[in-house]
Amino acid sequence: MQTRVVILGAGFGGLELATTLSEALGDDIAVTLIDKSDAFVFGFAKLDVMFGRTTPDAVRMPYSEIAKAGVRFLQETITAIDPDTRRVTTDADTYEADVLVIALGADYDMDATPGLAEGANEFYSVAGANTLRDVLPAFSGGRVVVGVCGAPFKCPPAPSECALLLHDYFLARGIREDCDLKLVMPLGTPVPPSPDTSQAILGAFAERGIEFVGGRRVSSIDPARKVAVLDDDSELPFDLFLGVPKHRAPDVVIASGMSENGYIPVESRTLATSYPGVYALGDCATVGVPKAGVFAERAARVVAKSVIAKLRGEPEPEGYDGRGSCYIEFGRGRIARVDIDFLSGPKPTGVFQEPSEALAAEKEHFGSSRKARWFGGP
Ligand SMILES: Cc1cc2nc3c(=O)[nH]c(=O)nc-3n(C[C@H](O)[C@H](O)[C@H](O)COP(=O)(O)OP(=O)(O)OC[C@H]3O[C@@H](n4cnc5c(N)ncnc54)[C@H](O)[C@@H]3O)c2cc1C
Repeated sequence: MQTRVVILGAGFGGLELATTLSEALGDDIAVTLIDKSDAFVFGFAKLDVMFGRTTPDAVRMPYSEIAKAGVRFLQETITAIDPDTRRVTTDADTYEADVLVIALGADYDMDATPGLAEGANEFYSVAGANTLRDVLPAFSGGRVVVGVCGAPFKCPPAPSECALLLHDYFLARGIREDCDLKLVMPLGTPVPPSPDTSQAILGAFAERGIEFVGGRRVSSIDPARKVAVLDDDSELPFDLFLGVPKHRAPDVVIASGMSENGYIPVESRTLATSYPGVYALGDCATVGVPKAGVFAERAARVVAKSVIAKLRGEPEPEGYDGRGSCYIEFGRGRIARVDIDFLSGPKPTGVFQEPSEALAAEKEHFGSSRKARWFGGP
């Protein structure tokens, strides 16, 4: 009988896992990939959408295009996970797994920051980015605050990218001098594991007149007074607020009883949970790496290799090393790269490459190659 692998979530991690298993085993394995959405969208595409560089339709990759040997995709909402029996319930059916992989990402907890839902914009969801497509052109100047409401949050460089792109956007519209631009984030520096990267971003902020308020988070918004309240009770008045909501694992993960401090604990090298045959990877797990697609993808490859090795009776593959390369938009059409290594050495390290047009082309390839690999076609 075929081994039944059930993958919960068809994001960065789930798509890479399903693809790697299919490539190695084809119809010799039965992979069920479940997601409530009908399409995948890269996180970074949200920045493109909000600045009107593309449309929400253009960045959607419909799951209906997945055609891989051994893989069936189901568009269903997962309503319960029993890690002891590896049984999953959805709004349509129940599924039993020999190997269960939870890759459900992180959700946004809008209620954790009073006033955020009513009085502010967020750019971390496709809907929020799409709203900003209309809000930004109508903005004619004033105090702009990009504010992070809690850590950990996805893609630590993204709020800095947003601030740099806002600068370019206001400049192009001829209103930069009428805008005061501030970024608030709980991290002390923009990219803590790489001082060179942080220095480059802080240098770019200084050059462009963007104020960085590090080591602080936005704890509430007062929509009536148009004020962001920080965790030290200081206040930042704004005319336009762009928030990064507090994150948490999806409700179904919390209800499964697997989470600790909001996320699923795993053994970092293997991504195994404490439940036999159950793995968790990507943003819904506590792996010891930041919440970013490149880390979810690499972790998925480790889980795939482990499943393949077990089926073939081969030795366990090398463990997860926590490495990943992140592209960082600096504006002016240039992108930098930082190669981070979280788990190989005694402490995380990061090697920075200066922003360039060549790296902008490399990022383009990063996206198009994943699209081709996961969905087929150009
Ligand atoms: C603005 C922005 C910029 C970013 N830039 C980058 C970048 O440049 N590089 C990078 O590596 N990362 C970037 N990221 C982060 C990246 O998008 C995420 O870290 C990554 O997608 C996490 O992968 P994942 O597989 O863990 O989860 P996800 O990709 O979030 O996938 C989880 C899936 O689970 C599904 N799901 C959740 N709950 C249920 C349920 N109950 N039933 C069914 N399905 C469910 C969701 O629909 C989703 O498809 C960025 C994020 C943002 C917001």
